[in-house]
Amino acid sequence: MTTITRFAPSPTGRLHVGNIRTALHNWMLAQKAGGRFMLRIDDTDAERSREEYVEAIREDLAWLGLHPDGEERQSARLSLYDEAFERLKDAGRVYPAYETQQELELKRKVQLGRGLPPIYDRAALALSEDDRAANEAAGEMPHWRFRLDHDEPITWEDGVRGAQKFDAAQLSDPVIRRADGSWLYMLPSCVDDIDMGITDVLRGEDHVSNTAVQVQMFTALGAQPPRFAHEALLVGREGKLSKRLGSLGCDAFRERGIEPEALIALLARLGTSLPVEPIAHRDTLVGTFDLSTFGRAPAKFDDAELDRVNTAIVHQLDYADVADRLPHGMYDAAWHAIRPNLETVGGAREWWAIVQGPVTPPEMNGDTRAYLAEAASTLEWSATPWQDLTATLKAQTGRKGKDLFLPLRQALTGQNHGPDMGELLPLIGEKEARKRLQNAASS
Ligand code: GLU
Repeated sequence: MTTITRFAPSPTGRLHVGNIRTALHNWMLAQKAGGRFMLRIDDTDAERSREEYVEAIREDLAWLGLHPDGEERQSARLSLYDEAFERLKDAGRVYPAYETQQELELKRKVQLGRGLPPIYDRAALALSEDDRAANEAAGEMPHWRFRLDHDEPITWEDGVRGAQKFDAAQLSDPVIRRADGSWLYMLPSCVDDIDMGITDVLRGEDHVSNTAVQVQMFTALGAQPPRFAHEALLVGREGKLSKRLGSLGCDAFRERGIEPEALIALLARLGTSLPVEPIAHRDTLVGTFDLSTFGRAPAKFDDAELDRVNTAIVHQLDYADVADRLPHGMYDAAWHAIRPNLETVGGAREWWAIVQGPVTPPEMNGDTRAYLAEAASTLEWSATPWQDLTATLKAQTGRKGKDLFLPLRQALTGQNHGPDMGELLPLIGEKEARKRLQNAASS
């Protein structure tokens, strides 16, 4: 059977890094099995769902290179939910309930006060036809609950957590539909997973108790439940994910100069027993993807670690990967010369400006100026002008180390540090280099 996974965000905000990780892992699971990865937009909440977020989710997935093999939207599938709802109602697995929020809240408080778990008491299940008719005659419209089967323990083999077992009697019958007919998450998700042929549901461990309910729902709908796996949540260095990482979509990363490959390399392995490495090739990451390496402890997302992975990824990018983001005129050899010195691709702009000049060297003393004048007249152009120049100057002046190299670097770039001068000098060119040495010598 072809593996089919899905990423099912609610378009009520931008993706956060936890969502991105879930999307990535679903994509990887499908890739590894040669299967399909679907996007499902969970937009049954008409009030909170926004079109701009749907767009942003698509754009973020595109930027990450996680291309879905298909997309479904829950708002376009309401008739499927109606149909499933009627079937469950006919089978006695759905019942109307009339309690108000306040009544339910009060029941919960009383239970908690007595030291009992706040499980719904099924009072509505005990209502007679007459009670229901009386409620409705009084204008009280019901919401609807799914009746859990208390007879059988709920079990599944979780891809991350191992064997899971729940006692249905310890769970509340979930509300699946509101009095106004609108849907809560639980049933539409099952209906879609069945209809879309989803074989693997991989999501955060905050969904474990939903899974317990959904296992019974799949069965009640006459379907085999998919395989489930729940990954430990992602937390920030100090515990909760900060708002900054929390809900800004991929823009925040892109604007900071983070490459999609860096985010992917980090999130692919964070929280697993595999080492986080700056692996720019997705096939490598996909090849090592394995749910059995996932740990149970929360995975810690550290911005500094992302920056480190990013820098190492930038150093591997080829000219073709970045050409459209480089300053005008910057060519292949220039990128390769400058690349080892960058933390972000955007940093190339600064070094390209230095290659093109003008540059402002620091104040030099008399000795150094004389040395630079000698350098200007010594400079000869060859395939290796920097190596030749420094070798000759070393022999002529007896200078070495910093005394030999630093004044030249300062005169040629205006900087104390930077890319390998052997790579940089050919980019600056003979005429310009001589001019810079002369300028610094006479400043
Ligand atoms: N829309 C749900 C969420 O974002 C989907 C959960 C699921 O994967 O089933 O939490």
